[in-house]
This record gives sequence, structure tokens and C-alpha cells, in this order.
Amino acid sequence: MRSGIDVECREVGLRDGLQIQETFFTTVGKIKWLTLEVEAGMPEVEACSFVPPKLLPQFADAIEVVAAALKTKGSIISALAPNLRGAKDAFASGIHKLNYVTSVSESHNMANVRRTVDESVEDFRKIVELRNATPGAENIILAAGLSTALGCTIEGQVSEDAVMRLAARFVEAGADELMVADTVGYANPQQVKGMFRKVIEEFEPAIPIGAHFHDTRGLGLANAFAALEAGCRRFDASLAGLGGCPFAPNATGNIVMDDLVFLMEGAGMKTGVDLDKLVAIREIIAQNLPNETLSGMYAKAGAPKGFTPASSIAAE
Ligand code: ZN
Repeated sequence: MRSGIDVECREVGLRDGLQIQETFFTTVGKIKWLTLEVEAGMPEVEACSFVPPKLLPQFADAIEVVAAALKTKGSIISALAPNLRGAKDAFASGIHKLNYVTSVSESHNMANVRRTVDESVEDFRKIVELRNATPGAENIILAAGLSTALGCTIEGQVSEDAVMRLAARFVEAGADELMVADTVGYANPQQVKGMFRKVIEEFEPAIPIGAHFHDTRGLGLANAFAALEAGCRRFDASLAGLGGCPFAPNATGNIVMDDLVFLMEGAGMKTGVDLDKLVAIREIIAQNLPNETLSGMYAKAGAPKGFTPASSIAAE
């Protein structure tokens, strides 16, 4: 984690937020969004997904966006790759970190990436081998994400044991980081606390654990706080709450980045992110997606009187 911060926020809006967006978000708009967010202090930005443009035209400009992202300074630039082929392109683009996701529930994984969980783990193993064998790619961080770890729209409840088993398999296969995701917004804070305690106790500090929540049923931020209390220090979120899931009908987006930063800063956890600068970037989303309703209560209500973000307090 970058020095001087207590929690690491990761902007996933440019990937998770845009992947189901039918309106093409202009390349210039994407670059402006991510550049300004890096300047606002965001420690990590997921820039795109490396998928065939025919499948997801939204990411047809992936190489261009990553190239621009790599010109910025100070943030980890990551990208999602759903398979070995995508990983190859991602490594060639020069990203710092590759995110790979597999659903804990078999049927969700099949619906999402058309493979069994076993096949997904094997593909990840090949990605690790490719990374290790590609000159210049050796330092790229490989993060394995566990989707539907707290519930599945097809299978319902997902057991903690199933999550722990899949996590262990990814670590054994060579994952540098894990991400635990409530992809469909089923989780409650009590469940989150139990799950994150277990995963963190088992794998940290060797393998950092990240959290990924959706606000589908209004518990996204409560879940983030529960994960924080369980010891989690890495959180995905998306500016203005963009996003959803094609396999979670009516799913609202990721937790709202601006509200997450407000929550953390108010709880005394330094994010290193300038909230005012962050909120101002919403305008770029509004311009590029005029038909989208932007989420986020902090942007609407503003800072409470006398609010002092933890990051603004100078270290002793
Ligand atoms: Zn998501």
C-alpha cells in the first residue's frame, strides 16, 4: 500500500461501471476521468477490460486508455482480463496489475465466463506462467477476484467453506492478491464481518485482501464498514456508483466512491484522496452519460459543518 494512507481505495468505474453501459464513453472522456482521479490522489484505477471489442465495444479503446493512464504518476493502473488471451494483451499494454475474476458459484461462473470454476483456476495458472515467462512482465501483480462470494442470483447462499477453498486454490496457483466480491449485493454486514475475518486471518499479510461491494440492496457502505472492522484495508468502488451486473437483474452499481471516501475519512482512515476534487470529476460522467442517473449522497449534500477529513490532518 502507498505510504501515508490507511485504506486503499480502488476506482473500478472505468471497467465495472462501464461494462454494461451501452453508450460509448468517449476515449477522451475516459482519459480525462482517470487522469483527474489520479490527480485527486486515488491509489489505484482499473482502466479497462481486455476483451474482444466485438463482445464489449465499450473497451475497444483499451490500449489507448491504458497508454494514457500509464503517463500519469503515483497510482497503480490495473485492468481486467477474463482469460489467457486477454491477459496476453494486458501484459503487452504495460499495466501494473491484472485483475482476474471467477465466481465461487459454479452456475454464475458458467453464465459469466462460460467455463467451470476448475477451468477458470487452470486458466489463471496459465496466466501466472505467462506473466513469469514474459520479459518485462515479471512485476505485474496478479489479483484473483472471488465473485458471488457472499451470495449468488442463481444458487442463492454461498458457503464460507466454498470461498475459502477457492481462495486457497488461487493462492496455490500464484495469486499475489485476492479480492472478495459481493457481486450481486446480497451481503449483510454481519456476514461480511465473519467472512472477511476468516479470509484475512488465513491469508494476510502474505496475500492482501480487497473488498468489492455493490449497493443493490442499500447495504453497500455498511458492508464496507463491516469489512473495515474485520481488518480489510482495500476497497473497490466506482465514482457516482456506476455499474451493475448483466446477471443480476436491476442491480444498482458499485458502492459510490465519493461516499466511501467520506465514510473512511470521517472514520479517521486516511485515503489520500481529495474529496472535493473527486466530486468535481462526476461532471465528466454526467457529460458522457447524459441518460445515466448518478448515485452518491455526499455529492448532493456536501460536507457536514466542521468536517475534517483524516487525510487533511498533518502527521505528528
Ligand atoms: Zn462489481
